[in-house]
Amino acid sequence: MRSRFLILFGFASCLQAHDLSGLGYDPHGHPPDLPTSAGTTLSSASGLARIFAPFAPAVSTREDGSYLYINSTGFPDHPMMKGIRNWQQQIPIPQDYSGENSWRLPLQPVPASSPAMIRGRFLRGAIALAANGVPIFNPQNNRGEIALEIGELDEWGGHCGRADDYHYHIAPLHLQEKVGSGQPLAVALDGYPVYGLTEPDGTSPQDLDTCHGHESRELGYHYHASQNYPYVLGGFHGEVAERGEQVDPQPRAQPFRPTGEPLRGAEITDFQKNGTDAYELTYRLRGENWHLFYSIRNGKLMIETRKGNQTIRNETFDRHDNRLHPPR
Ligand SMILES: [Zn+2]
Ligand SMILES: [Zn+2]
Repeated sequence: MRSRFLILFGFASCLQAHDLSGLGYDPHGHPPDLPTSAGTTLSSASGLARIFAPFAPAVSTREDGSYLYINSTGFPDHPMMKGIRNWQQQIPIPQDYSGENSWRLPLQPVPASSPAMIRGRFLRGAIALAANGVPIFNPQNNRGEIALEIGELDEWGGHCGRADDYHYHIAPLHLQEKVGSGQPLAVALDGYPVYGLTEPDGTSPQDLDTCHGHESRELGYHYHASQNYPYVLGGFHGEVAERGEQVDPQPRAQPFRPTGEPLRGAEITDFQKNGTDAYELTYRLRGENWHLFYSIRNGKLMIETRKGNQTIRNETFDRHDNRLHPPR
């Protein structure tokens, strides 16, 4: 079907509709600087799509004249959860960020007349999307605490939200190796890229503004991640719409079950995939190893809780039972 599409509509369509997993994407190609119908240039549009290319086919993109749309499950290809000491008993469940529920980034970001700062604001939902399709939330959690400082994050800077949706709360600096040095780690939801700790030439960024970004001749406006606050960006240099304490629009995570409660004293020691849609999360609590074996089959989430080798309980959740719960 896709190959027929490409044959019928030809090379230009191939450049505009980036299915990174398919025939249309050439990771080494540098498209010519031709204007599209929307007045942008193919090279600038494809530049944004290329940020996500190292993670194809798990992450795929398409674009129209105005936006780049990114499909992902929010699951990274690195381990998760290990190292969390302050845990709300949420577990990673793949999300369906695709189609109508995909991520959306403006291809032509517009500088805001005055930047919207994120401290104490945008405490729900993502502020940026990492190159691997994992959302990045405000460094503050939804109660306003710095998630990293209170042991809520795993060794990769992430954890799961109320819908069991995995997300980062700091910039994923560990992705730098995979995306390549000097390449962006993420894109803020205003459309401006987030680079790592240095410029592409290895020098330290100079003259960062309150949003933790700056303009350069080579890269245009861009943010820089940092190892201290603000970690990702201090505010949106570009225009964003705000609704319900979050950048709007953005995809919704879908919960299977009611929100978890904090489990004092637990530390997550391991997480692994045991098969297709089957996972095992291990935590230590008061000297005992506990395991959650869970799987998602036919729209149901099944969780077996074991203390050592002993089954403590079995639970099944139907996604539809929880449609009234807020997603985050
Ligand atoms: Zn969170
Ligand atoms: Zn810079």
